[in-house]
Amino acid sequence: MSLTFTKLKAEFRCINDSCGATYDLNEVVYECRKCGSLLQVSHDINALKETSGKEWRELFDSRLGSVKFPNTSGIWNKREWVLPHVQDSEIVTSGEGLSHLFHSERLTKHFGLGDLWIKQCGISHTGSFKDLGMTVLLSQVKHMLNSGTKIRAVACASSGDTSAALASYAAKAGIPAIIFLPAGKVSQAQLIQPVSNGAKVIALETDFDGCMKIVKEVTKEAGIYLANSMNSLRIEGQKTIAPEIVQQLEWNVPDWVIIPGGNLGNVSALGAGFEMAKELGLIDKLPRIVLAQAENANPLYLSYLKNFEEFSPVDAKPTLASAIQIGNPVSVQKAIRTLKKFNGIVEQASEAELSEASAKTDLFGLYNDPHTGVALAALYKLRAKGTIAKGEKVVVISTAHGLKFTEFKLKFHEGKIPGTDPKLANVIRSCKPEVGAVMDEIGKFLNSESALNLKDIL
Ligand SMILES: *Cc1c(COP(=O)(O)O)cnc(C)c1O
Ligand SMILES: [Zn+2]
Repeated sequence: MSLTFTKLKAEFRCINDSCGATYDLNEVVYECRKCGSLLQVSHDINALKETSGKEWRELFDSRLGSVKFPNTSGIWNKREWVLPHVQDSEIVTSGEGLSHLFHSERLTKHFGLGDLWIKQCGISHTGSFKDLGMTVLLSQVKHMLNSGTKIRAVACASSGDTSAALASYAAKAGIPAIIFLPAGKVSQAQLIQPVSNGAKVIALETDFDGCMKIVKEVTKEAGIYLANSMNSLRIEGQKTIAPEIVQQLEWNVPDWVIIPGGNLGNVSALGAGFEMAKELGLIDKLPRIVLAQAENANPLYLSYLKNFEEFSPVDAKPTLASAIQIGNPVSVQKAIRTLKKFNGIVEQASEAELSEASAKTDLFGLYNDPHTGVALAALYKLRAKGTIAKGEKVVVISTAHGLKFTEFKLKFHEGKIPGTDPKLANVIRSCKPEVGAVMDEIGKFLNSESALNLKDIL
C-alpha cells in the first residue's frame, strides 16, 4: 500500500465554536487569547478523508505487532491522526499504548454481560495512562526546540501520575521538569517516581486545585512549558485509546465504555478518538460513555443530575482514588460536550463501593488501582439498575497499575476501609511450620465460605 500523507496538518483551535480562533502548534498557548476557552488540536479532516476507512484500518493493522520504530508505540503507529508534522528524530517514546484488553469468561458472566473487557491503560511505562499524552507533549516540545522556540523546562501540577509520566518522558528527552504536588496527598510509589527521574519536585501545602493555580502562574514565565491536560497536546495521545480498542475488537464497537474521571481530560480524549474513527469511516457507530467519579469529588455527577444545565466546582474531599480528587476540573466543558454526544451517563462511587468493586474483581485475576475501582463500581451500580442491560458489551478503562497503590490494597485486606464486607478481606494467618498444622489451614481454606470461595461473590 503506498499512501502518502504530505498534505496532513494540524493546528490548535478554540473549542468555543462561536470564536473558532486558531493557533500554530509551535505557539506557546494553552487557552484561547481571544475568549479564554480551552483549545483542541484540530486536524485537516478533508486531507485525512482522502484515505478511506478501509485503507486506514488496513494501514493500522499492518503496523500492529511491528517491531519497527515508531510502530512499537500505540500512539505513533497512528501518527497521522496525532501529530503528522513530527519527525522520527523528535519522537520521545517509551513504547506506550498497545495495552492489553483483559478478558475473562468468568468475569463477564459475573456481571451478566455479553462481553466485558478491561482496557489496561495503566500497564505502561510509568504505570498510568498519562504516558499516552506525555509522549505527544514531549515530542512536540522537541519539535518546538528544533524550530527555535526557547523552552527551558516543562512543568505540571499533579495528583501523582502526571508527574511520574512528565518526569520520565522529560528525562528521556533531556529536558528539565518541574513538578508541583499537594503535600501528603500522593502515594509513596507516585512520589518517588519523579524524584528518581531527577525532576524538581515541589510539595505545596494545598490540594491539586491549589497546585494547578500555581503552575498556571509559573508557566506564564517565558520558557516554562505547561504539561497539564489543559494543554491539548496531551489529549491527542490519549485519544488513541479509542481507535486502539476498536482495532483490538476487530473494528467492532462496544455498547458502553466506562472511564473514571477527575480533571476530565481523558473522557474528552476518549470521545475525540471515537468521533475521529467514525468520521473517517473506520467504524459506523459510537458507544455510550459512562464517566465515573468518586463521591468525594463529584462535581460532574452533581451537574449531570441537573442535565448539565449548571456546573459548580466543589471542594474535593479526600478519596482513596487520589488521582481524581479534583473539585474544579479544567476540562469540564469538553467533557460535558462529549457526554452529550455519546448519550453519556455520570455515575459516582463511595469509598466502600470503589474498594469492594476493586477487591471483588481482583478475584478474577485483575490487580485494580482505586480509580479503576471507581469505574468498576459504576458498572456494578448500572447493572443493578438495569441501565446497562444483560448481554451488552462493555469496555472498562483501567487508568493505573495497582502496584502504585499498595497502601490501598493493604488497607482493604487489613479490614481498615469502613463499610466494606469483611468476608472479602484476605487475612494472612501465621502457622507453625508443621505439616499437620499446615494441612489444617489448607482444609479450612478449601472448605471455607471465605472471599476466595467464588460462590460468595457470584
Ligand atoms: C489522571 C488520572 C485519572 C483522571 O483522568 P482525567 O483526565 O484527569 O479525568 C484517572 N485515573 C488515574 C489513575 C489517573 O492518573
Ligand atoms: Zn476563543
